[in-house]
Amino acid sequence: MSHQFSAMLRIAIQSKGRLHDDTISLLREADIKIRESKRTLLVQASNFPVEALFLRDDDIPETVATGVADVGIVGLNELEEKGADCEIVRHLGFGACRLSLAVPKEEAYSGPQWFNGKTIATSYPAILRRYLKQQRLTATIHVISGSVEISTGVGLADAIFDIVSSGSTLVNNNLREVETVMQSDAVLVARKNLEPEKRAVLNEMLFRFDAIKNAETKKYVLLNAPAEKVDEITALLPGVKSPTVMPLAESGWCSIHTVIDEDRFWELIGKLKAAGAQGILVMDIEKLIA
Ligand code: ATP
Ligand code: MG
Repeated sequence: MSHQFSAMLRIAIQSKGRLHDDTISLLREADIKIRESKRTLLVQASNFPVEALFLRDDDIPETVATGVADVGIVGLNELEEKGADCEIVRHLGFGACRLSLAVPKEEAYSGPQWFNGKTIATSYPAILRRYLKQQRLTATIHVISGSVEISTGVGLADAIFDIVSSGSTLVNNNLREVETVMQSDAVLVARKNLEPEKRAVLNEMLFRFDAIKNAETKKYVLLNAPAEKVDEITALLPGVKSPTVMPLAESGWCSIHTVIDEDRFWELIGKLKAAGAQGILVMDIEKLIA
């Protein structure tokens, strides 16, 4: 266990499924190494005061809310469905999807009132119930735990309420998405009233997650420029602070180093070349602490 912390933070993560790999990769990028084992439910990280509790995603919200785990990584959809009383600490961006209502594609759908008197199959009854109430609609909810998309085809329901990401499952089952009820991604949740010692471990973990996120959309750029062009070129560069300018061995030439946003990259490269930059080298950044 790391010297500077006096507590162990227990994190609930999905044992297998769509969030598992991205969760493990995020922890690994944050240098929190968890050796995965098929049989062990609770695994301590080798180099950080964290232990991972591997669970089905359905059980994660409650496990955190009741304090069996201190924090957890779970889909916002699952958290909302369970209504567990946790603090959402960060949106993590992966596992993006939406919860939508879909109807057989040949239906003449004119608006949410279409659902009045209909039967809707779903694995997310609580979220659906809330939506129906808010829209003042009356429909029968048929709860099934999997393969919701086949419900209309087999005559089990008139419509479905389910997770959509690309939409191809809907198309394959002759369904049409008509209402998006919520957007979801994986979230890091924490139990309420975490002790200060555990909060300190969480804060260190957040510091690392944020450094990874900051770096994701940034590039490190090195380029060479004639000394007389340095002012013109540095004026084009936003950088984290100001760019680093160093003389090259060849007199009259400089090397300029800076960090730029990925979305501005191509536009900037064109301008830099036009201003006399040469040998432009672009690199990924692993972590960025602003
Ligand atoms: P478990 O065995 O842990 O209960 P599961 O079968 O309930 O797993 P997964 O299919 O692994 O759940 O999905 C976990 C989460 O991944 C979902 O709750 C959702 O937040 C997210 N997700 C992102 N895209 C999709 C998708 N296309 N289909 C299903 N879930 C998705
Ligand atoms: Mg599940």
